[in-house]
Amino acid sequence: MKVVIVGGVAGGASCAARLRRLDESAEIILVERGPYVSYANCGLPYHIGDVIEQESKLLVATEEYLRSYFNLDVRTHSEAIAISPREKTVQIRHIPSGRVEALAYDRLVLSPGAVAVRPPLPGIDLPGIFPVRTVPDARAIREWIASSSAAGRKTGRAVVVGGGFIGLEMAENLVHRGLDVTLVEMLDHVLPPIDWEHACAVEEHLGAHGVKLALGDAVAGFERRDDGGVDVHTQSGRTHSGDLVILALGVRPDTTLARLAGLEIGECGGIRVNDRMQTSEPDIFAVGDAVEVRDFVTGQWTLVALAGPANRQGRIAADVIAGRDARFRGSQGTSIVGLFGAAIAWTGASEKTLQRIGDRDYERAFLYPNSHATYYPGACPIMMKVIFRRSDGRLLGVQAFGEDGVDKRVSAIATLIQMGATVYDLEESELCYAPQFGSAKDAVNFAGMVPANVLHGDFSAVHWNDARDGFILDVREAHELEAAYLPQAVNIPLPQLRARLNELPRDRDINVICRAGLRGYYAVRILLQNGLRARVVSGGMLLIARIDPAAVRSRV
Ligand code: FAD
Repeated sequence: MKVVIVGGVAGGASCAARLRRLDESAEIILVERGPYVSYANCGLPYHIGDVIEQESKLLVATEEYLRSYFNLDVRTHSEAIAISPREKTVQIRHIPSGRVEALAYDRLVLSPGAVAVRPPLPGIDLPGIFPVRTVPDARAIREWIASSSAAGRKTGRAVVVGGGFIGLEMAENLVHRGLDVTLVEMLDHVLPPIDWEHACAVEEHLGAHGVKLALGDAVAGFERRDDGGVDVHTQSGRTHSGDLVILALGVRPDTTLARLAGLEIGECGGIRVNDRMQTSEPDIFAVGDAVEVRDFVTGQWTLVALAGPANRQGRIAADVIAGRDARFRGSQGTSIVGLFGAAIAWTGASEKTLQRIGDRDYERAFLYPNSHATYYPGACPIMMKVIFRRSDGRLLGVQAFGEDGVDKRVSAIATLIQMGATVYDLEESELCYAPQFGSAKDAVNFAGMVPANVLHGDFSAVHWNDARDGFILDVREAHELEAAYLPQAVNIPLPQLRARLNELPRDRDINVICRAGLRGYYAVRILLQNGLRARVVSGGMLLIARIDPAAVRSRV
């Protein structure tokens, strides 16, 4: 069997290596347009930031390694330019020589990845404006910074265009390099896949680390400055000046070859594949950023440009080619971004996705569990949003932000979501515990307990927008109000509540607030059992301070 694989990085290399392990006799040709196979895109921002100093560290496997360990016929600097599904051939152009060769295949795997979005804006090709997609891109950015300082020019300011995860990682790494960074984003918030409450937390954190944010403003064009830098003009008429501009405007599936070959393209613009990674031509497989996949939670077609799904799909394509019955389950978009010592992670459906598709059978809970036992040094709160089915408690998604333990909580919950778990399963999850790692009731357990309490009717939660104009009872201690208080709230500290019930109305809902929600829950249980109508303001003062800072006053 002869298998040609186009694209030699995440999906392509993983497919090639797996196929060799399953079939020692197959002829496997790995065709890659660029100079390298199997390199770590994900490390590029950290190489630019000097965290990964040597470029060679980005090469996960060299051509020589793939040849000697896996007996692969690796062809770099070689581009697939046309496919004939009828003749089962693919045309390969050797880029340095221009020579074109037709390779026959029994099975063809496409893993060409994505192309960076690059709108035809005035000045977009000016020197000093860089994408971040490949090792040569990273090298060019490093050289630009180095050559500027060698020529006595200051590379003091950078403008990052695009607030997705690559834009954020670049902002952090350029700050590490000592640059003054402005991040321009067309939408009102950074990180489009997450909901605005967590985006607010991320923005606050970026601001605290010196990144200037220009949100809700699209770039209109670029102009060369006399000092060699670039002015970035926005549609609102503002100008952000940079000695360096990074374009991180997102990606779209690279479907050039697939379209030429007449393969079916799906509604999101990716190559349409079945759960065995076969395209509309069963002998042609496609994997990675180029394909569209089923969203595991919503069941809808979607695009997920992430390394994990690309690698798993490459492996599944290899299994199917080798005669196994492997199937891709869909993707949940599980992601994490490290930012100045903190992390934002998410998996599954966001509230805004559910709203967009008209799914109203969900509820959400905010909580701030600690990353580990508070008596052990270094515990930090994790801001969590759990989204779950109101009708049956099924977990739909989670978002988490904090300085410790975010990755393992979201990874654990992601796994449970893939198993079809409910919030009741989270309550029962048995996780590692010693004080430096977690709590006897772990953040993951709390992420089930709070929603389960809501579904059991132990308390109901009200979201700030629906609570702010009603009666608000603040059950924090008086001294806590110095730093942040709501002027319209009545303060009765929790320990005094049982003795002061007669101060509360019996004819209206009491919206109970505390710092994070826990004391609010205790208070609501007291009030409900004394015949009052009470509900917890979800996320407490910690959340309100982020999403509606104008509502919060301070006496200090
Ligand atoms: P790629 O890995 O992009 O490989 C496609 C290859 O195909 C390319 O090398 C290209 O040259 C080659 N090719 C295309 N067309 C042809 C052709 N016609 N002929 C020959 N070769 C061709 N994901 C995460 O999950 N976590 C992260 O932290 C993360 N960080 C990232 C940071 C950056 C800067 C970038 C750019 C991406 C990051 N990603 C991350 C995304 C991840 O790298 C991709 O999702 C993954 O690499 C996709 O794998 P793929 O095989 O589909 O495409």
